[in-house]
Amino acid sequence: MDEHDKRRVGEQIEPGGRPKAPGRLELLQRFVNSYNHDFPPEWDRLGTAARAQAWLRGKRLVARGDRISDADAARLRELREAIRALAIANHGTRPEPAATEIIGEASRVARLTVAIDAAGRTALAPERGGVDGAVATLLAILHEAQLTGHWSRLKGCRQCGYAFFDRSKNRSAAWCDMSICGNRTKNRAYYRRRRTSER
Ligand SMILES: [Zn+2]
Repeated sequence: MDEHDKRRVGEQIEPGGRPKAPGRLELLQRFVNSYNHDFPPEWDRLGTAARAQAWLRGKRLVARGDRISDADAARLRELREAIRALAIANHGTRPEPAATEIIGEASRVARLTVAIDAAGRTALAPERGGVDGAVATLLAILHEAQLTGHWSRLKGCRQCGYAFFDRSKNRSAAWCDMSICGNRTKNRAYYRRRRTSER
Protein backbone atom coordinates (compact mmCIF):
# COMPACT_ATOMS: atom_id res chain seq x y z
CA MET A 1 0.00 0.00 0.00
CA ASP A 2 1.48 3.39 -0.96
CA GLU A 3 1.29 6.56 1.15
CA HIS A 4 -1.69 7.96 -0.79
CA ASP A 5 -3.72 4.84 0.03
CA LYS A 6 -2.47 4.64 3.62
CA ARG A 7 -3.74 8.15 4.26
CA ARG A 8 -7.21 7.06 3.11
CA VAL A 9 -7.34 4.04 5.44
CA GLY A 10 -10.23 4.36 7.90
CA GLU A 11 -12.22 6.66 5.64
CA GLN A 12 -12.22 5.60 1.98
CA ILE A 13 -10.28 2.36 2.38
CA GLU A 14 -10.80 -0.63 4.68
CA PRO A 15 -7.75 -2.89 5.18
CA GLY A 16 -8.33 -6.30 3.66
CA GLY A 17 -11.29 -4.93 1.66
CA ARG A 18 -13.61 -5.73 4.58
CA PRO A 19 -17.12 -4.27 4.64
CA LYS A 20 -17.71 -1.26 6.89
CA ALA A 21 -19.69 -1.69 10.10
CA PRO A 22 -23.46 -1.52 9.45
CA GLY A 23 -25.70 1.51 10.02
CA ARG A 24 -24.61 4.24 12.38
CA LEU A 25 -21.89 2.01 13.81
CA GLU A 26 -19.82 2.96 10.75
CA LEU A 27 -19.49 6.48 12.16
CA LEU A 28 -18.15 5.15 15.47
CA GLN A 29 -15.80 2.85 13.54
CA ARG A 30 -14.46 5.84 11.62
CA PHE A 31 -14.05 7.73 14.89
CA VAL A 32 -11.84 4.96 16.31
CA ASN A 33 -9.97 4.76 13.00
CA SER A 34 -9.37 8.51 12.82
CA TYR A 35 -5.88 7.46 13.86
CA ASN A 36 -3.93 4.29 13.21
CA HIS A 37 -1.04 3.69 15.60
CA ASP A 38 1.12 2.36 12.79
CA PHE A 39 1.00 5.71 11.00
CA PRO A 40 2.87 8.98 11.74
CA PRO A 41 1.29 11.07 14.57
CA GLU A 42 0.67 14.01 12.19
CA TRP A 43 -1.81 11.81 10.29
CA ASP A 44 -4.13 11.83 13.32
CA ARG A 45 -7.44 13.27 12.04
CA LEU A 46 -8.16 14.53 15.57
CA GLY A 47 -4.53 15.50 16.23
CA THR A 48 -5.18 19.27 16.55
CA ALA A 49 -8.20 21.44 17.32
CA ALA A 50 -8.48 22.51 13.66
CA ARG A 51 -8.26 18.93 12.39
CA ALA A 52 -10.80 17.69 14.93
CA GLN A 53 -13.17 20.51 13.99
CA ALA A 54 -12.90 19.67 10.28
CA TRP A 55 -13.46 15.97 10.97
CA LEU A 56 -16.48 16.53 13.23
CA ARG A 57 -18.03 18.97 10.74
CA GLY A 58 -17.48 16.58 7.87
CA LYS A 59 -19.38 13.94 9.84
CA ARG A 60 -22.10 16.45 10.81
CA LEU A 61 -21.36 15.79 14.48
CA VAL A 62 -21.06 19.53 15.16
CA ALA A 63 -22.71 22.57 13.58
CA ARG A 64 -20.90 25.08 11.35
CA GLY A 65 -20.45 27.69 14.06
CA ASP A 66 -19.18 25.27 16.73
CA ARG A 67 -15.59 25.95 17.80
CA ILE A 68 -13.36 23.11 18.95
CA SER A 69 -10.60 23.91 21.48
CA ASP A 70 -7.31 22.08 22.07
CA ALA A 71 -8.83 20.64 25.26
CA ASP A 72 -11.85 19.38 23.27
CA ALA A 73 -9.56 17.66 20.75
CA ALA A 74 -7.57 16.06 23.59
CA ARG A 75 -10.82 14.86 25.19
CA LEU A 76 -11.94 13.34 21.89
CA ARG A 77 -8.62 11.52 21.44
CA GLU A 78 -8.86 10.14 24.98
CA LEU A 79 -12.41 8.92 24.33
CA ARG A 80 -11.31 7.40 21.02
CA GLU A 81 -8.59 5.34 22.71
CA ALA A 82 -11.04 4.22 25.42
CA ILE A 83 -13.51 3.02 22.77
CA ARG A 84 -10.63 1.33 20.94
CA ALA A 85 -9.78 -0.51 24.17
CA LEU A 86 -13.40 -1.72 24.32
CA ALA A 87 -13.17 -2.93 20.71
CA ILE A 88 -9.91 -4.76 21.51
CA ALA A 89 -11.69 -6.39 24.45
CA ASN A 90 -14.22 -7.78 21.92
CA HIS A 91 -11.71 -10.58 21.31
CA GLY A 92 -13.04 -12.03 24.55
CA THR A 93 -11.36 -10.19 27.41
CA ARG A 94 -12.43 -7.54 29.89
CA PRO A 95 -11.68 -3.95 28.90
CA GLU A 96 -9.10 -2.04 30.93
CA PRO A 97 -10.79 -0.30 33.91
CA ALA A 98 -9.27 3.02 32.74
CA ALA A 99 -11.21 2.74 29.47
CA THR A 100 -14.61 2.20 31.08
CA GLU A 101 -13.85 5.02 33.53
CA ILE A 102 -13.14 7.46 30.68
CA ILE A 103 -16.36 6.48 28.90
CA GLY A 104 -18.35 6.78 32.13
CA GLU A 105 -16.85 10.20 32.72
CA ALA A 106 -17.71 11.29 29.16
CA SER A 107 -21.34 10.21 29.58
CA ARG A 108 -21.75 12.35 32.69
CA VAL A 109 -21.01 15.48 30.62
CA ALA A 110 -22.38 14.42 27.23
CA ARG A 111 -25.97 13.71 28.15
CA LEU A 112 -28.59 11.93 26.06
CA THR A 113 -32.32 12.30 25.96
CA VAL A 114 -35.08 10.14 24.44
CA ALA A 115 -36.44 12.06 21.45
CA ILE A 116 -39.72 11.16 19.76
CA ASP A 117 -40.93 12.09 16.27
CA ALA A 118 -44.46 12.61 14.91
CA ALA A 119 -44.69 8.93 13.95
CA GLY A 120 -43.96 7.92 17.54
CA ARG A 121 -40.46 6.62 16.80
CA THR A 122 -37.95 7.17 19.58
CA ALA A 123 -34.22 7.77 19.35
CA LEU A 124 -31.39 8.70 21.69
CA ALA A 125 -30.47 12.31 20.94
CA PRO A 126 -27.85 14.63 22.43
CA GLU A 127 -29.12 17.21 24.91
CA ARG A 128 -26.57 19.84 23.86
CA GLY A 129 -24.70 20.89 20.75
CA GLY A 130 -20.95 21.31 20.26
CA VAL A 131 -18.40 18.71 21.32
CA ASP A 132 -20.64 17.51 24.16
CA GLY A 133 -23.32 16.74 21.57
CA ALA A 134 -20.82 14.94 19.33
CA VAL A 135 -19.59 12.81 22.25
CA ALA A 136 -23.21 12.07 23.25
CA THR A 137 -24.02 10.90 19.71
CA LEU A 138 -20.96 8.61 19.65
CA LEU A 139 -21.96 7.11 23.01
CA ALA A 140 -25.54 6.63 21.75
CA ILE A 141 -24.15 4.66 18.79
CA LEU A 142 -22.02 2.54 21.13
CA HIS A 143 -25.11 1.77 23.23
CA GLU A 144 -27.35 1.03 20.21
CA ALA A 145 -24.72 -1.31 18.73
CA GLN A 146 -24.59 -3.23 22.01
CA LEU A 147 -28.38 -3.65 21.88
CA THR A 148 -28.35 -4.89 18.26
CA GLY A 149 -25.38 -7.19 18.92
CA HIS A 150 -23.26 -5.54 16.21
CA TRP A 151 -20.86 -4.10 18.76
CA SER A 152 -19.31 -7.48 19.61
CA ARG A 153 -18.24 -7.80 15.97
CA LEU A 154 -16.36 -4.50 15.97
CA LYS A 155 -12.88 -5.54 17.02
CA GLY A 156 -9.60 -3.79 17.56
CA CYS A 157 -6.84 -5.45 15.53
CA ARG A 158 -4.57 -7.43 17.87
CA GLN A 159 -1.55 -5.88 16.17
CA CYS A 160 -2.39 -2.26 15.32
CA GLY A 161 -5.68 -1.53 17.14
CA TYR A 162 -7.56 -0.71 13.92
CA ALA A 163 -11.32 -1.22 14.43
CA PHE A 164 -12.60 -3.69 11.83
CA PHE A 165 -16.00 -5.32 11.47
CA ASP A 166 -15.75 -9.08 11.84
CA ARG A 167 -18.34 -10.74 9.63
CA SER A 168 -16.82 -14.21 9.94
CA LYS A 169 -19.25 -16.93 10.99
CA ASN A 170 -17.36 -17.95 14.11
CA ARG A 171 -16.27 -14.37 14.91
CA SER A 172 -12.65 -15.45 14.99
CA ALA A 173 -10.92 -12.69 12.99
CA ALA A 174 -7.98 -11.28 14.96
CA TRP A 175 -6.31 -8.84 12.57
CA CYS A 176 -7.41 -5.91 10.44
CA ASP A 177 -5.87 -7.57 7.39
CA MET A 178 -4.23 -10.99 7.31
CA SER A 179 -1.72 -9.82 4.68
CA ILE A 180 -0.54 -6.86 6.78
CA CYS A 181 -0.94 -7.38 10.51
CA GLY A 182 -1.56 -11.12 10.47
CA ASN A 183 1.71 -11.83 8.70
CA ARG A 184 3.62 -9.36 10.81
CA THR A 185 2.43 -11.12 13.96
CA LYS A 186 3.35 -14.49 12.50
CA ASN A 187 6.79 -13.25 11.42
CA ARG A 188 7.47 -12.00 14.91
CA ALA A 189 6.47 -15.35 16.37
CA TYR A 190 8.71 -17.04 13.79
CA TYR A 191 11.73 -14.88 14.68
CA ARG A 192 11.09 -15.42 18.37
CA ARG A 193 11.04 -19.17 17.87
CA ARG A 194 14.17 -19.08 15.75
CA ARG A 195 16.04 -16.98 18.26
CA THR A 196 15.07 -19.37 21.04
CA SER A 197 16.20 -22.42 19.07
CA GLU A 198 19.54 -20.81 18.18
CA ARG A 199 20.45 -20.30 21.80
ZN1 LIG B 1 -3.94 -4.33 12.08
